[in-house]
Amino acid sequence: MTVGRVLIATRNAHKRAELRRILAPAAPHIEVVGLEDVARYDEPPETEPTFEGNALLKARAACAATGLVSLADDSGICVDALNGMPGVLSARWSGRERDDAANNALLLAQTKEVPDERRGAQFRCAAALVLPSGDEWVEVGVLRGRLLRTVRGEAGFGYDPLFVADGQTQSNGELDPADKDAISHRGQALRTMTPLLVRAVA
Ligand code: IMP
Repeated sequence: MTVGRVLIATRNAHKRAELRRILAPAAPHIEVVGLEDVARYDEPPETEPTFEGNALLKARAACAATGLVSLADDSGICVDALNGMPGVLSARWSGRERDDAANNALLLAQTKEVPDERRGAQFRCAAALVLPSGDEWVEVGVLRGRLLRTVRGEAGFGYDPLFVADGQTQSNGELDPADKDAISHRGQALRTMTPLLVRAVA
C-alpha cells in the first residue's frame, strides 16, 4: 500500500537507479517519482562549494517547484593527493559534463606519479530531504578506499572502475550492485535518511 510520495531530484540515471534500489526495501510503501514524472522547472546550477550545499539547492528547488517531498544527492570523489579534488567538480572534472571516460582518463593522468601508499581517496555523498513545510535534513555518507592505475569493471558509473574500497579486492566497477549499495557513500547517507523520510511522508 502506497502511503506517500517522494521526488528524487536528479537527472543522473545511474544515481536515480541506486537511490530507488536503496530506498525500496527500507520504505516499500513510499512511491518514488522522478523528474520525468513532474512538470519541467528551472533546475539550479550547482554553485555551492560543498556537497551538502549543492544537495540542499537541488532538493529545495524541486520541493518549491512541485510541492512534493524532495530528495536530492550531491556526490563525488575526493582524492587525498589532490587535496580533496575533484570534490564537487567530479561530474565535470574534464570540462565535459558527465563524460565518465574523459573524467577517469584525466584523473589517472593527474595521479600517474602518485605512489601506491599515497593513493587514498573517498567517495562522499550528501543526501538532502526538503519538505513543503520548510523542514530539511542533510545526511552524509563516506566510502574510503584507494585509486587504481587502470580502470577495472563495467558496473556502476563515474569513477567506480578506478576505485577499490577499504576491505575489498574488487573495484566498485566490479562489485555486484547490491554489494556496492551495502557499503557505498550513497547507501550510507540514504539508510540514515530513511527513517526521517518515512516519518515525513507518513
Ligand atoms: P553530481 O551530479 O554533481 O552530484 O555529480 C556526481 C559525480 O560524482 C558523478 O557524475 C560521478 O562522476 C561522481 N560520483 C558520485 N557518486 C559516484 C559513485 O557512486 N560512483 C562513481 N562516481 C560517482
